[in-house]
Amino acid sequence: MNTNEPAPRPSLSRRELLGGTVALPLVAPMIRTGKRTPGPTLVGSSNGLDGMRKAYPALLEGSHPLDVAIEVVKVQEADPTDHSVGLGGLPNEDGVVSLDSACMDAETHNSGAVAAIENILHPCEVARLVMERTDHCLIVGKGAYEFARMHGHPHTELLTEEARRIWLRWKETMSDRDDRLVPATRPEEEKHGAIVPSRFERHGTIHCSALSKGGKLACTTTTSGLAFKIPGRVGDSPIVGAGLYCDQEAGSAGSTGRGEAAILSNGSFACVEMMRSGMHPKDAGIEVLRRIVRQARRAAGWQPSLLREDGWPAFSIQFYLLDPTGRYAGVTLGGPAKFAVADPEGGPRVEDLERLEP
Ligand code: ASP
Repeated sequence: MNTNEPAPRPSLSRRELLGGTVALPLVAPMIRTGKRTPGPTLVGSSNGLDGMRKAYPALLEGSHPLDVAIEVVKVQEADPTDHSVGLGGLPNEDGVVSLDSACMDAETHNSGAVAAIENILHPCEVARLVMERTDHCLIVGKGAYEFARMHGHPHTELLTEEARRIWLRWKETMSDRDDRLVPATRPEEEKHGAIVPSRFERHGTIHCSALSKGGKLACTTTTSGLAFKIPGRVGDSPIVGAGLYCDQEAGSAGSTGRGEAAILSNGSFACVEMMRSGMHPKDAGIEVLRRIVRQARRAAGWQPSLLREDGWPAFSIQFYLLDPTGRYAGVTLGGPAKFAVADPEGGPRVEDLERLEP
C-alpha cells in the first residue's frame, strides 16, 4: 500500500503523465517535514481508471474537483461493457435498470442525489442538478426521472442485449419450482462468457474522490446497484454518509460493495470522521472494516448467510479515502484487488487495496 509518504521514485514527465507531446517535468511537491503537500489527486474504484486517464489533466490544470470527479464516473456510466453502472448495468428482478447516484462538494458542504432513477444515462449529473438547482438532497424514482427530463437529459434505454441475457439466465435458474426452464442447448450468453453472478457477487459501483490544485475536496458515487434487486431497493450510493461523504476539514470517502453494510455502518462518514481524528486514510478505512465485521457477526444472528463457515463475512465491501493533505488509501473486505488513483507522483494508475484478513 502506498502510504503517500515521499518515496524515492523517478519523476515522471508531464508527457508520461498525460500522454501528451510536451515533456515538462512534474515533480511531486514536498514540504520540509517530508510530508507531501496537497497535489491534485483522484482516488476511487478500479473501474475509474479510464475516466481518470481522461479527466486527470483537467484536475492538474486547476478544474473544480467535482467537475473532474463527475467526468471520471461518466466514462463508466456510458460504457455498455461495465455491468455495474449506467448503460449496460444489470437490471432489477423485473429486468429494469434502476440507478442510484450522489455527489458532494466539500467547499459548500452541499450534496445532491437521485435514487431508483430509470432511463437516464448520467445520473451523476442529475445528482449535481439536485444539489445546485433545488433545495433538496435526494429525489427518487419517477420524480427524479421527470426532474432529469426537465433539465434536458434524454430518455435512454439502458438495458443492453448482454445485460438482458444475463438477467434472463438468472430468472431461469433461480428456482426449480417455477415454470421457467433453462434452454436445452448451451445458452448464447454463456458462449460469450456471461454468467449469472452469485448472491454476494452481484455488486459493482464507481466512486471517485477528488482533491483540487487549490486543496478543495469533492466526490461522487454512481451505480446500477445490486443486480436483480427487489424493485425500489436503494443501496448506499445515493445515501450521504453511506456511499460517499466529504468534509473540507477532514477528508473524502466513498464505498463500493455491499450497500447494506455501508448504510448500517454509515461507513463513508465513519471513514471521514476517523481521518478528522488524525488517522491515516489506510488506518481509518481498516478500522471501519473491522467495525463492519463486528456488525455483520451480530446481524448473523438473524441472517446467518452473511457469514462464511469460518465466521468471516461472506460479502465484500471497499472504501476509498482521501484526506485534505493528499494522503489516500483503498481498503477492502474480500472482493477486488485494486483501486484507482491519480496524483502528481505517478499519474493515473491502479494500486493494491489494503485487505482486512480474518
Ligand atoms: N454499493 C452499491 C449498492 O449496494 C452497489 C454495489 O457495489 O453493488 O447498491
